[in-house]
Amino acid sequence: MHQDVEKILISAAEIKEKIDELGRAISRDYSGKYPLVVGILKGASVFMADLIRAMSIDVQIDFMAVSSYGASSKSTGVVRILKDLEQNIEGRHVLIVEDIVDTGLTLNYLLEILKARGPASVRVCTLLDKPSRREINVPVDYNGFSIPDEFVVGYGLDYREKYRNLPEIYVLKKGVYKGR
Ligand code: 5GP
Repeated sequence: MHQDVEKILISAAEIKEKIDELGRAISRDYSGKYPLVVGILKGASVFMADLIRAMSIDVQIDFMAVSSYGASSKSTGVVRILKDLEQNIEGRHVLIVEDIVDTGLTLNYLLEILKARGPASVRVCTLLDKPSRREINVPVDYNGFSIPDEFVVGYGLDYREKYRNLPEIYVLKKGVYKGR
């Protein structure tokens, strides 16, 4: 295990099993709809790569990048588009893929922007959900795991751009992010 992490919260085997389940549910719900699956960079990149391979239907993919935490581990509520979609989503079935929904501010903002572009539907799939931290009510249509209020890293999730490449989801040692 990496020296900066305290414990494994979700193992690689548990992640894989859950993604297979999500992929099946999404494939069933979007059968014949050719959805546009939108990964939110950079955190959701690892999840997205595994999730689309667990889908048995035709999908198109695209990515967006928004600023959320910056270099600190607290949500500011200030969200900025750093990279927009390449696809026109008018009339399309859009599935947003997120790494984690925490306060819900990032997702709320994204949903507003995307809905204004006239898609046929917009749904959300997140790997992790921290319901106890929610500040705004946002719909989560597909959720991998609900987790307690701990700062997690690995499997795409970072702290100051590190730990994204770790294969499982871990709780970071408190000493690593003092002043959160
Ligand atoms: P929200 O706007 O819902 O508060 O924040 C969503 C974003 O905050 C996520 O996409 C993620 O980048 C970041 N975030 C929230 N909680 C955690 C966490 O426990 N670990 C990491 N690495 N990022 C988090």
